[in-house]
Amino acid sequence: MALRAALQQVKDCIGRGQRFALTTHVNPDGDGLGSEAALAGYLKQLKKDVYIYNSNDVPANYEFLNHDGKMTVYRSEEHRETLLTVDYLIILDISDWQRLRQLGADVREMSIKKICIDHHPSNEKFGEMSIVDVKASSTGEIVYDLITFCGGQFTRMMAEAIYTSILTDTGSFRFSNTNAKAFAIAAEMVRCGVKTNEIYQRVYERQSRNKVRLFAHVLNNLNFVAEGKIAWFIISLDAMESFGAKPNDTEGFADYPRVIEGVEVSVMFIEMAGGKTKVSLRSKGEYIINTVAQKLGGGGHQFAAGILLDGPPPEHIGNVIKALSAIVRT
Ligand code: AMP
Ligand code: MN
Ligand code: MN
Repeated sequence: MALRAALQQVKDCIGRGQRFALTTHVNPDGDGLGSEAALAGYLKQLKKDVYIYNSNDVPANYEFLNHDGKMTVYRSEEHRETLLTVDYLIILDISDWQRLRQLGADVREMSIKKICIDHHPSNEKFGEMSIVDVKASSTGEIVYDLITFCGGQFTRMMAEAIYTSILTDTGSFRFSNTNAKAFAIAAEMVRCGVKTNEIYQRVYERQSRNKVRLFAHVLNNLNFVAEGKIAWFIISLDAMESFGAKPNDTEGFADYPRVIEGVEVSVMFIEMAGGKTKVSLRSKGEYIINTVAQKLGGGGHQFAAGILLDGPPPEHIGNVIKALSAIVRT
């Protein structure tokens, strides 16, 4: 469906409905949370009832987006009944059921109307209605489009949320998704009151000492293959524990080895509780890596993708590195 028609369809739903639930993917990031905060702000302006249910707590550096403490960790026993009463569930920054965890499992058994707003290329279109724009820098950008299309006004809080979405998903306006529109919206958000230094400090300059120590450990334990074009590292449960780090503390680590000259692709293997491995893939732009992620059961964007695998990292490193080496020219 053309973008305009999709915007119109969702605008009609917003007009018709009174009760809305918003959600985003597991381990929510600045884009998912920013999208929720901005859209919730707009729905509140319209005097709608809004619930926000996520799979995890809001990380401390994004707590400023948790207006009125509305962002709630979803628990079936407590929230299923409320979810059954909403007119629409709006699913943000997510392309597949699996990353909705328990809420996803519950919703699949409900006849709840779903609206999906996202920018992932592999979107399964699991909402009956969806606005999917793979050219958008972030989901926040599409939420901006929607609110503008609906004639909404951006309060400073909403503007901060949209700005955070764009800032975080473009890696602070560094990645190739940093297009003219991303800058144009950011400029407008600044006119709506965003203080860029303030947001940067809140998001990036309040990391815990434990996180920084874990990062030092990561940097000291990088591995290089394919003539230095691929850098990879593992974060074991032992390392997480010995540095006292929390699951979300690895955010941003996968991007960092790209700073090394010659590195084109960076791979992070995280050992998860329960014996799984989370793989994050990043590319500087020479090689498209979401095809590799898809082949191994994951997905994502051309230059930032991920996979969740059964079994601990040592069982998968060889396979993943082999698949990447096959696409990297040496
Ligand atoms: P991450 O490495 O977790 O920051 O993820 C980078 C991108 O890859 C995200 O924007 C997701 O779209 C995608 N992604 C991560 N994990 C998965 C997964 N298990 N399945 C599908 N896509 C994923
Ligand atoms: Mn995201
Ligand atoms: Mn995103």
